[in-house]
Amino acid sequence: MNLSTPIEKIPRIGPVYQKRLKKLGIKTVGDLFFHFPYRYDDFSNVIPIAKVKINEICTVQGKILDIETTRTWKRRMFLTQAVVEDKTGAIKVIWFNQPYLVKVLKKEDNVFLSGKVVIGENGAYLTNPAYEKAPLQTKNYPLATNLTHTGRLVPVYPETAGLSSRWLRYILKPLLIQFKKNLPETLPEKIIRENKLLALNKALWQIHFPDSEKLAKTAQERFSFEELFFIELFVLRERARLAKEKSVPLPLDLKLIQKFVKLLSFKLTDAQKKSSWQILKDLEKTRPMNRLLEGDVGSGKTVVATMAALNTAKAGYQVAFMAPTEILAKQHFQEVAKLLKDFNLNIGLLTGKQDQFRSKKLKNEVVEISRNKLLEKTLNAEINILIGTHALIQDRVKFGKLGLVILDEQHRFGVEQRARLCQNSGRQTKTIPHLLSMTATPIPRTLALTVYGDLDLSLIDQLPKGRKKIITKVISPAQRQETYEFIRKEVKKGRQVFVICPRIESNNNEQKIKNNLSWAEVKAVKEEYEKLSKNVFPELKVGMLHGKLAGKEKERIMRDFKNKKINILVSTSVVEVGIDVPNATVMMIEGAERFGLAQLHQFRGRVGRAGYQSYCLLFTDSPARKTHQRLKALITSEDGFALAEKDLEIRGPGDFSGTRQWGIPDLMMNSLTDVRLVEKTRQAAKEILTEDPQLKKYPALQDKLGRFRERIHLE
Ligand code: ADP
Ligand code: MG
Repeated sequence: MNLSTPIEKIPRIGPVYQKRLKKLGIKTVGDLFFHFPYRYDDFSNVIPIAKVKINEICTVQGKILDIETTRTWKRRMFLTQAVVEDKTGAIKVIWFNQPYLVKVLKKEDNVFLSGKVVIGENGAYLTNPAYEKAPLQTKNYPLATNLTHTGRLVPVYPETAGLSSRWLRYILKPLLIQFKKNLPETLPEKIIRENKLLALNKALWQIHFPDSEKLAKTAQERFSFEELFFIELFVLRERARLAKEKSVPLPLDLKLIQKFVKLLSFKLTDAQKKSSWQILKDLEKTRPMNRLLEGDVGSGKTVVATMAALNTAKAGYQVAFMAPTEILAKQHFQEVAKLLKDFNLNIGLLTGKQDQFRSKKLKNEVVEISRNKLLEKTLNAEINILIGTHALIQDRVKFGKLGLVILDEQHRFGVEQRARLCQNSGRQTKTIPHLLSMTATPIPRTLALTVYGDLDLSLIDQLPKGRKKIITKVISPAQRQETYEFIRKEVKKGRQVFVICPRIESNNNEQKIKNNLSWAEVKAVKEEYEKLSKNVFPELKVGMLHGKLAGKEKERIMRDFKNKKINILVSTSVVEVGIDVPNATVMMIEGAERFGLAQLHQFRGRVGRAGYQSYCLLFTDSPARKTHQRLKALITSEDGFALAEKDLEIRGPGDFSGTRQWGIPDLMMNSLTDVRLVEKTRQAAKEILTEDPQLKKYPALQDKLGRFRERIHLE
């Protein structure tokens, strides 16, 4: 047996559990070992029964004098009651709704019980304690090592239906003991030594069954280090690999660019000019560009990207321009077509699933053509710029002469898709296309060094002139009615309103939330829509937009909103990225406390795009002072970067796009906020690569890096 042994080979895991484990992505012994607890229950306070205190969590050891289960009809539940005695006294124990306990725990059994003592009608009792039969104690195996569910720091795992932490402990512990002596170390000796890390076998044991809080932390630190180290290693190697690749140099046509700029109805900001220049200069190189264009919402990234597209197309190469949603793809199509209408280019739009496919070819006017025709024209390079959703990366889509890939909000696609677009073209041209990613998500420094570390950065840190400052307000429940009246007035003036709903988090089981995430969001939107359209604004046109609507339906609603047939649009966070409705002046956000500051800032960027005074109204029912303080940051700051850093500080990097796709375990996410750790791991990765670029001396690293790459590419 080794780490890649499939879970089917583990004797205690039957088919039902195999299935449940696979739902969590656990397929091998190694996966199981790296399924880390997200917290620990501290049951290490083992005391005599006479010493127990009310409302304190403790562990007692004693003999069961009596145990029985009854069904209480009044309260419709099973009650298991027991009395446990040690040398110092006896205590009552009650478990609710665990009738099977009488099969496990019997009279006369010597047990450990961990839980809280409370006072009931008939005196004190231990309520719903964790339990386990007392293991054998020998000199070699002190109690803390032998206990699993009680009397120690007990690991609690992220659970899914049918996979309890108790079961995981029961499986993991003997496996860990079995592997303790023969786990191959994954990090080089030198790195472990220099950074004072725990060895793998020790760290694995301590992260699952820690002897102390401190050791648990040290173990976490080792794995955090390792995660970051591999990200850095991966990113640095990608960078080096890419530096060796060739791409077609696309000479900068200055006259062309000047003409484009002159035809614009506005003046470019300095930041736009600088970014465009960096990009156009990159395109001239034989080394593939790998650049991230980062700019706040409304900073005007599209026009910068369009310039790069124009230069590429006129140099005789094609551009693939990918947007995260159909609505956005269409919007880009319209905008790019408008910007380039005097340049005689063929621009295509490819969206949707196979059956809802529509294509348009544009040469100053929009023409519908069949998908096959569009694909054919893409293959023989008649289409200069093909704009679309992830439909662009299907195998059927082949570019004859792809020179540049533009990804809007690239983190929504992930590393794999990016690679695939590159590959698709690489097969035909033997070079790889230049790559420009765009994002409105400000990326804090630690993330720029890690998950985005293989990209060069261009920053548009300046908004176009003449934008009115958006008025941001936190709205308490008492102000709700007057705020609705205010919204009514705005609509009377002809303006439009966005209403964003968070998902309802009624269930605190994390995994479940993840699974039901989008449905919960839909439910919230439907309820809000009902309320607003029937009770609050019956005289207005209210529309609803969410991810579960069919593509056509979504498009129709967006079109109606753009054409002012809808006054108020209730939506999930799908409007978060890039939708341009200049006539919308009010962004109203329900449950604002549930969003990150950076995300709220993104929502806010949806309004204030034309000359009208615009408003961002943050509704919150939460009376917590902290919530209000956090939201107030939005009133004072318009700096997406500052807000993102603040988010990172307050909420951790979990909300940052781009981190999830690396599959970083939740427990490790915090390490991404740790600048010192990030720099330390980067340094370590650099040293190893300088010493041995191919990692020939480090088969363990090579091996893990390979699996790491696979993991990333699967997401
Ligand atoms: P984002 O960076 O969020 O993608 P867009 O590219 O959609 O922003 O630009 C937002 C709006 O600002 C568009 O309507 C665009 O035409 C306009 N715009 C872009 N650059 C300028 C500028 N320099 N001056 C005025 N308006 C601009
Ligand atoms: Mg945009």
